[in-house]
Amino acid sequence: MAATQNKDYYGALGVKKTATADEIRKAFRKLARKHHPDVNPGDKKAEERFKEISEANDVLSDEKKRKIYDQLGFYSDNIDPAAAEAAARGGYGGGGVRAGRGGQEVPFDFGGFDFSGFQGGGARAQEGAGFGSSFKDVFSGMFNGGGRQARGPQPGTDLEYQVQVEFWTAIRGGVTRLEIQRQEQCPTCKGRAVVGGSSTCPECHGEGQVTQMGGRMKFNIQCPRCGGSGKVQNACGTCDGAGVVTRREPLEFRIKAGTRDGQRIRLAGKGNAGTEGAAAGDLYLIIKVGPHKLFQRVGDDIHVKIPVTVMEAALGAKIEVPTIDMPTGGADNAGAGHTQLKIPPGTQTGQKLRMREKGVPSATRDGVRGDQIVEVQIVVPKVQDERSKEILRELQKLNPEDPRREMLSEV
Ligand SMILES: [Zn+2]
Ligand SMILES: [Zn+2]
Repeated sequence: MAATQNKDYYGALGVKKTATADEIRKAFRKLARKHHPDVNPGDKKAEERFKEISEANDVLSDEKKRKIYDQLGFYSDNIDPAAAEAAARGGYGGGGVRAGRGGQEVPFDFGGFDFSGFQGGGARAQEGAGFGSSFKDVFSGMFNGGGRQARGPQPGTDLEYQVQVEFWTAIRGGVTRLEIQRQEQCPTCKGRAVVGGSSTCPECHGEGQVTQMGGRMKFNIQCPRCGGSGKVQNACGTCDGAGVVTRREPLEFRIKAGTRDGQRIRLAGKGNAGTEGAAAGDLYLIIKVGPHKLFQRVGDDIHVKIPVTVMEAALGAKIEVPTIDMPTGGADNAGAGHTQLKIPPGTQTGQKLRMREKGVPSATRDGVRGDQIVEVQIVVPKVQDERSKEILRELQKLNPEDPRREMLSEV
């Protein structure tokens, strides 16, 4: 891996660090005219200088690249702008920045350089329409697209699947099945992507270089087909040269009792296969717990709304309420059971009563259970008969309080 050196791009172009984009462009054009290999044939120093200013221009003329360079003192395509930002804030020199594959050498050669439209000297080159812009385009293209040939082993990517889990399965645990689609190592080429021996590259006829036109200029660049080696290998027919094949695969896995909605389950090495023996990715399952018509699950707590009569609420009562516990003697995975709950006298509608440890057993803490929260909903009797109406009128006389009094006095 080539070491990343700190290069003085501003110095190379002879501009200040505060230079505008326009100043940078003009400085580069001026220097490019002077050091162009075509006007300095055979001059190795000019060639080096030309590469230097081209590289400086490539970075400084791009706002994003320039920012990273300003922050770090060097630039590489593999640096994430956010990482550069963080490194700049934390004082450059920390471990926050990974140079990734390192500065890739962009191979180019000025041997076959043809610059027929260029008159030399620079006096006649016009601003705007000159070679500066097309020249930059050529280099940008080369920097971005060049040298992608070397593939090598590629680690497999991670996979993510959302898994619907039934309400009761999430609470009590169980087995869930799903079918996933993942990339497996190609059985024909064993992930190498190629089969058989190598042959001469048809693109460059084994020379490793091809000529590329950039406007009126001609460059000898590394052959994109063979990556400069001059040889190509036959792509594997089974995987079309990918090294991996896509397969559908049934998957069965255990859901732990108490699994929560949104929980991520990681199955290491069950993601896409890598190529050439590189590690496989991981498989992430995102649990989506189904609803229940009665119970609502909030973390390890169970919420349930229970209707209560006016009389039960006023006088207090012992009522039966459904719980997630299996009824005694019930079959495995049977639905809800029920248990007694004491309604205190004077309970109001909307009041919440907590039933300790009647919630979901925790998937992470042994022996710990959530609670069941019962919300009381008072049901008013629809009285029809005269006798009941009479009792209610009498009740009203005995309890003449106005529940809106406080409310009205506040207005
Ligand atoms: Zn293959
Ligand atoms: Zn080639």
